[in-house]
Amino acid sequence: MQIQIKDNHEPLVDIKKYCPGVVVRIGKKRMKIEKTAYLRKTVAEMLRSAQKNLPKGWNFIINDAWRPQYIQAEIYFNFIERFQKMHPKWTQEMIIKEVEEYVADWKGVASSGHMSGGAVDIRLVDKYKHKIPMKKRGLTYQQNALSDQKLLPAYIQKNREIMFSALRKAGFSNYPKEYWHWSYGDYQWAKRNGKKIALYGTISDVRGLYSKKMCPCGQNKKFVECHGE
Ligand SMILES: [Zn+2]
Ligand SMILES: [Zn+2]
Repeated sequence: MQIQIKDNHEPLVDIKKYCPGVVVRIGKKRMKIEKTAYLRKTVAEMLRSAQKNLPKGWNFIINDAWRPQYIQAEIYFNFIERFQKMHPKWTQEMIIKEVEEYVADWKGVASSGHMSGGAVDIRLVDKYKHKIPMKKRGLTYQQNALSDQKLLPAYIQKNREIMFSALRKAGFSNYPKEYWHWSYGDYQWAKRNGKKIALYGTISDVRGLYSKKMCPCGQNKKFVECHGE
């Protein structure tokens, strides 16, 4: 089924302003440049309503939300390296196929939901801002990532269920291969939920924060003149 993107031009808003007490942790390097994390207005409002479904004192920690194109490309190339180390015997083709299960493209209609401001990577913290356990040591990256993972101890499955139901009640939809990735309105959301129309297209690096960066592919060219657009 062909999915059309009809961007409704909702603005990106500062998640911290919309969701009281939410913890934003998108990495020191990015925080220096981007200052905070952003989502489309409706998505930020949905997150605020999901906060109300959490146990007292608990809150969400945001590990990623809207992503500039440069960051999406950087994550992609980092994952190629990381998966090459994890699977030294795999061919380049196998590596790319596996990486693309976890990191979407930074160009085209099916590019990452993060670039649209409709997707958020999310976990839970308690009242001391300590992370609530969501994964198990000894499982692989891919095993831990799987939302419905029966190999996890019951208490961890319970923690996940608390987060999942809070987000679902607020209208979010989960990417089943990543328990932390939730979205609304983006292309993948439309695809997962059998919708013909996606509400949010890509918002590129409007403020030009990364316009002078070198390309993360390592070819020693500026991003805009290499893998960027
Ligand atoms: Zn994500
Ligand atoms: Zn490049």
